[in-house]
Amino acid sequence: MKVVLLPGHAKSREGAAVCAGSHVGVGEFELARQYLPQLGAYLEAAGYEVAQTNRESAGGASPVYSAKAANATRADVALEWHFNSAGPEVSGCEVLYWGPSSKGRWVAARISRAISRILGLKDRGAKPVWGPDDRGYHAFKRSEMPFFMVEPCFAGSNEKDARVFCEAIDSERWQAEMAAALVKILKTAYGKEN
Ligand SMILES: [Zn+2]
Repeated sequence: MKVVLLPGHAKSREGAAVCAGSHVGVGEFELARQYLPQLGAYLEAAGYEVAQTNRESAGGASPVYSAKAANATRADVALEWHFNSAGPEVSGCEVLYWGPSSKGRWVAARISRAISRILGLKDRGAKPVWGPDDRGYHAFKRSEMPFFMVEPCFAGSNEKDARVFCEAIDSERWQAEMAAALVKILKTAYGKEN
């Protein structure tokens, strides 16, 4: 089974920036770009084929290029890694999935629950994407494989979330435990050993 990992956004349009902790000021694209190679290595060690790409490799910075970049890898599932930003009191993890897919909802809920356990933050759960007004619509609509946007926490706006996430990345606990959780979830959902 082949998994494609993408950092959210693009080098030219970083998205939100980490508001506290050891990676303060680092944007969504750059933060994911720093930890995804190691997360991918853990998945490869578990027997998965892993591709890493990004929107700009398909020619742009908007979500439609997430789909184009993911489709070019012919992967079985796509995971794009972001972090959230809102008011300073909002906290927790959530995972966006293509609304019509009940299996997508199950996978998103399981990934969110795993993140909640790994980071010790509130589980905001699976968030459906139905239409053009929803976040990342064209990535979900145009991808040829199940596509997920992972929002591990509100590192862009909540200082506790940011510090917890930075600590987990620095200790490599994030990369190792997230990969282990993904192995279990993807195997159960898509019925493939690896
Ligand atoms: Zn984002």
